[in-house]
Amino acid sequence: MRQPMVAGNWKMNGSSDSIKELITGIKAGVGEANAEVVVCPPFVYIPMVAEVVAGTAIKLGAQNMCAQDAGAHTGEVSGPMLKDVGCEYVIIGHSERRAMYGETDEVTADKYSAVLKNGLKPIFCIGETLEEREQGITEQVVAHQLDAILKTAGAASLANAVLAYEPVWAIGTGKTASPEQAQEVHAFIRSKIAKEDAVIAEGLRILYGGSMNPANAAELRSQSDIDGGLIGGASLKADDFLAICVAGQG
Ligand code: PEP
Repeated sequence: MRQPMVAGNWKMNGSSDSIKELITGIKAGVGEANAEVVVCPPFVYIPMVAEVVAGTAIKLGAQNMCAQDAGAHTGEVSGPMLKDVGCEYVIIGHSERRAMYGETDEVTADKYSAVLKNGLKPIFCIGETLEEREQGITEQVVAHQLDAILKTAGAASLANAVLAYEPVWAIGTGKTASPEQAQEVHAFIRSKIAKEDAVIAEGLRILYGGSMNPANAAELRSQSDIDGGLIGGASLKADDFLAICVAGQG
């Protein structure tokens, strides 16, 4: 039985005051969650959030990581640093990083391996654009993105990772994939991995991301191959995020 996960990707939002309020609100209601709950604040606020969540079930994640451990990499943050401040998870390959910061499949695969090497767990994001969906190549696109890590780190590496299927056309747009559309791709992803390792595939958590909100979370989360959500916009309001954390069967 896979433990569901709901992870909040706060992106580049917030201030000391608003983030303190947000995490305090989440902490107050997290006892009701039927999921492992993870928050991914902007780097600079991670230590403050870590202090608030200390001793609770809320886990910490980062939104990005450098593939190198230390040295002359101006502006980057390393795995050992993220571990040092209490992170357990790192989002890798988010479509915004692929599209806006030039992260290729090769870069995401390097980062994925570096996260694991540092004893952290990647939340590895894959997903097609609207154009690719309309061309009918969704499965080829996600298979190609997955192959980047399967070829370098192997299917066994997924024992310590989480996948997030995030159709790019659904991220931050208010357009959610229907539960059937999402389930179809999740099932494809799991079956692709099962061809390499059936046990790993069965235990692997695959999150859905893309305009998940309190109104659609229960139906999405009840799909058999959807193991929770990676939440952007709705994770910035404690009540909405908590409503997603308690929704459905996971
Ligand atoms: C995301 O960016 O990972 C995401 C799912 O965003 P949103 O929920 O805002 O679509």
